[in-house]
Amino acid sequence: MVSLFSLFFPRTCPMCGRYVGESMPKGRLCDDCLQHLPRTEQAVLRQNSTEEVVGVHAASFLFFEKDHPLQRVIHRLKYADQPQIGYELGRQAALEMLDTEFFEGIDVIIPMPLHPIRLRERGYNQAEYIARGLSAVTGIPVDTTHVTRVRNTPQQAKQTGDERRTNVKDAFAVNHPEQLYHKHILLVDDLITTGETMRSCLKAMRRHIRTQYSVFALCKAR
Ligand SMILES: [Zn+2]
Repeated sequence: MVSLFSLFFPRTCPMCGRYVGESMPKGRLCDDCLQHLPRTEQAVLRQNSTEEVVGVHAASFLFFEKDHPLQRVIHRLKYADQPQIGYELGRQAALEMLDTEFFEGIDVIIPMPLHPIRLRERGYNQAEYIARGLSAVTGIPVDTTHVTRVRNTPQQAKQTGDERRTNVKDAFAVNHPEQLYHKHILLVDDLITTGETMRSCLKAMRRHIRTQYSVFALCKAR
């Protein structure tokens, strides 16, 4: 059933809250906010702070800073049932990165998996929506079946560095790794802070699949 609320709730920009008109896709930022996003330009940098923490070819689209309006957008993407924001920002990132070499040679996009319990609570995996946005522009397929989260780790924001390290250890499983042999894999996440989760995922995958890995994050914490 469609609620009256969703029928009549005006469509607004997830960043500034301004009315954007009903023809605007859900989750898309208004032109003004799009223009003022804190871009990293990492896709064209030979070395960057995302690569430094994850240890492979990598780029983030935006810088995440406390108290920047982008924080509200990411919060909505993760906790307020607005996954379309991920799709739209993924799409925007890919559009802007198309004329760089970043996506060259990549065979498959794998979003950072959520543990099934977390997935059930949230109802969606925000990283998958970002991946689908990247895929819509690049045409590279998204895979959500081979890498799974087997340990439910607490919310990272509430943990210390040491707790984080223990918690993400052995948190991932790889199913049918042989299907990914020799494929250049792009791992996607919404936000990279210490890079611990991503490194742990890469480590788990490398145990099973010796191939080329790249990483894309929507945001990199400064
Ligand atoms: Zn706006």
